[in-house]
Amino acid sequence: MENIFEVKHPILKSLVTELRNIKTESYVFRKTLNEIARILFIEALKNEKLTEKEVEIWIGTGKFPTLIEEKYVFIPILRAGLPMLGGLFEVLKNAQAGFLALKRNEETLESVLYYNRVPPLEGKTAILLDPMVATGGSLDYAIKVVKEKNPERIISLNVVGAPEGLSKISKNHPDIKLYIAQIDEGLNDKGYIIPGIGDAGDRAFNTE
Ligand code: URA
Repeated sequence: MENIFEVKHPILKSLVTELRNIKTESYVFRKTLNEIARILFIEALKNEKLTEKEVEIWIGTGKFPTLIEEKYVFIPILRAGLPMLGGLFEVLKNAQAGFLALKRNEETLESVLYYNRVPPLEGKTAILLDPMVATGGSLDYAIKVVKEKNPERIISLNVVGAPEGLSKISKNHPDIKLYIAQIDEGLNDKGYIIPGIGDAGDRAFNTE
């Protein structure tokens, strides 16, 4: 799984434990997803190429390095990916966003796409946001949908994953990079990650 990067920062591990804690309420759960996404994004951009930009500063005008923020398109997969979006806009306030909504058929565990509002992606870096990579079915599907729009590259930011789902993504999409805060043990027979954090959408939005 050469294109899957588990980010080993102690702050991330501590934040994942906060998510695991059943006593963590929705508000804190969302804030924690937001913070994890921000840290993962900073890690993902560690070796990013910079562009020289002319800037007027206190002693005159000069050229200084900057990221072209409009090149980045954040794409949360609804609903659970939504709390990750704010964290990324805190880092790149002029980036773009698109939205994909997928739900899981609880009997077949297959993904169903029911909302697709993604802007043109040619020449862009598409950044998919989904906290959970369980079977990998919905992320695999979302990557295929995004690839149809020919982005320059795709990065996936995820919080907790099972080896089964991650190896599926790695095998089907060796051309993307996936950054994740925690690789867990595996899946139970209902497709939930063990030990995991439970149903991320329900926990984030206080539903059952
Ligand atoms: N989706 C979740 O929210 N949690 C899991 O454990 C698996 C899929």
